[in-house]
This record gives sequence, structure tokens and C-alpha cells, in this order.
Amino acid sequence: MQIITKREKIRSVLNRWLKQYPEQNQITTTKLRELDLNNCSADDIANIIGNSSWTSLYCNECEKDVDIIMGLGKDDDKDPSVYVCECCLAGALAQFKYLRDR
Ligand SMILES: [Zn+2]
Repeated sequence: MQIITKREKIRSVLNRWLKQYPEQNQITTTKLRELDLNNCSADDIANIIGNSSWTSLYCNECEKDVDIIMGLGKDDDKDPSVYVCECCLAGALAQFKYLRDR
């Protein structure tokens, strides 16, 4: 399991961008370098890159973009295979409890 926050995603955007585009998009790279990644918003980054995918945390169950998410199915050298939000996890736990308490 791995908890990921929107702020962590924002803070890591420049490193991820440089890894994917080491030689290209110099204007975008410069604009990302100028941002205060500890305080800027996800919208600030989306406005520079042109889409919100670099900071979004989509829940695979409800498909909402949330601020905190749980990654499940993590292998040591791979990203989690499924991301689930707190609300969906709470719903899953309620179903476990219901079935256990019947
Ligand atoms: Zn969800």
C-alpha cells in the first residue's frame, strides 16, 4: 500500500517532466522551474503543461480526482496497479463489516 497526496504529485512534477522530456519542451521546463512547488496549485501546473494529468489522482473505483489516494498492488519495482480514494475504501470496509457481522 502506498498513500499519495496531491502535494507530493505537485512537488514531483518537475522531476517527472524532466525524466519524460529531458531535451524537449524547454519553455515548459523553464516555467515549471519557476513555480514554487510547495505552494502552487495543480491548476498552475495544468495551465503550463496544458492538461491536468500530471497532478491528477484518479480513483479507479469512482473515477474522481481526489487530494489523497491509496495505491494498492504495489510491487517493489513497479507503481501500484490500482488507486482507490478514502470514500471508496470506507465503502469497501463497510461491506466487509456487513458481511462479517451478519
Ligand atoms: Zn473513489
